[in-house]
Amino acid sequence: MKLEHIGIAVKNLEASNELFRVLFDTPHYKVESVESEHVSTSFFKTGESKIELLEATDPNSPIAKFIDKKGEGVHHLAFEVVDIDFELKRLQAEGFQLIHETPKDGADNKRIAFLHPKSTNGVLIELCQEKG
Ligand code: ZN
Repeated sequence: MKLEHIGIAVKNLEASNELFRVLFDTPHYKVESVESEHVSTSFFKTGESKIELLEATDPNSPIAKFIDKKGEGVHHLAFEVVDIDFELKRLQAEGFQLIHETPKDGADNKRIAFLHPKSTNGVLIELCQEKG
C-alpha cells in the first residue's frame, strides 16, 4: 500500500488553500465537491503523495461533525490499493471494522472505503483505488 494522500479537515477551504499555497510554494491543482459526503475538497501535490483539504458543505457532513468534536486537523490517511474489493474482504476477515463494506465514489477519480478508527488505533484510514 502506498500513502496516497493525507486528508485535513478545515473550516474555510479558500483560506486554507491560500495557507497551504504559501506553505508548499505551489497552488492546489484541483477543487472537487463530493456530494455524498457533503464536502468540498482541494488537492496539493507533495512529492509522491498529496494533501487533501476537506471543508463541510452541510452541518450533517462527517467533516462538520469532526471539526465540532476535535477542531481542524488531520482527518484521515489514504492508502492506494490495487484491488479495493479484495482488500476490504481481506481486512474484514482479519477483524477490522469497515465503515463502507463496498467501495463508493470519492474525489479525484477514485473508488474509496473507510475503516473504522475503533479498529485502527484511532486513525481513520481510507483505502482508494484509481477508477479504470
Ligand atoms: Zn481522502
